Amino acid sequence: MPNEIESTTIAGTRVNSNVQGAQNAFAGFKIDSSDFLDSIEGRTLCDKCHRSRKFFCYKCYLPMPPLEGRIPSVELPIHIDIVKHPQEIDGKSTATHGPILAPNSISMCTYPDLPDSSRSILVFPSDDAEEAEVFMERVKKENSGTFPYDRIIFVDSTWNQTYRIVHDERIADLPKIKLSGIESLFWRYQRGNPTTYLATIEAVYHVCRIYHGVFISEPYRGEYDNLLFFFYYMFHKIRKLYDPKSLRAYATRPHLRE
Ligand SMILES: [Zn+2]
Repeated sequence: MPNEIESTTIAGTRVNSNVQGAQNAFAGFKIDSSDFLDSIEGRTLCDKCHRSRKFFCYKCYLPMPPLEGRIPSVELPIHIDIVKHPQEIDGKSTATHGPILAPNSISMCTYPDLPDSSRSILVFPSDDAEEAEVFMERVKKENSGTFPYDRIIFVDSTWNQTYRIVHDERIADLPKIKLSGIESLFWRYQRGNPTTYLATIEAVYHVCRIYHGVFISEPYRGEYDNLLFFFYYMFHKIRKLYDPKSLRAYATRPHLRE
């Protein structure tokens, strides 16, 4: 349900959905400057598939030559698998940011292919799913402080497609976790979706933050914030291009208006 939770604490970070304005939506995040992206004109050809792209190839998960060596590289504390539906429009999904910004930590596959799920958990808000933080605290206690899984699986797809994928018998019985009460900063209006319906890259980010809070004894110093590098850039780009008051996404997210 949208806006039912006014504020919540996520892995030590207070997410205050009502007073958090657009300008400080990313306050405290350590995200590299993406200003240079504005100076990139036109498109170049992907080294691998030779299709014409602007910033990155969303088929090959590679940055375009003008971005090589200039975008951040993120190492995550646990391996992430993202499963996408073959009909999903790659260019619109934030999931493709993952393997581009964290190539060693995030793998993508296209259903009906599925990743090795022998020691995996699945992110999906089913009735039997546990809140991510509750689940991690519980398994930590039960396993002498360690996380007994190697990988966390996300599904990047529309709701109906996702429902079908998570009921595939190869992954249907995996332990499931969910993220509640975190409001999305996604700029694209999603009809019928509550404001807590996170973009895939946001969901990956928040699960890693929660994992860090539970399993890593070091304080969090922004290590995974650059996962939102393109997301942050697009967020501000869209806000500059459109008057926030007329952008439908903001109608359901009044705190993002100036
Ligand atoms: Zn390509």
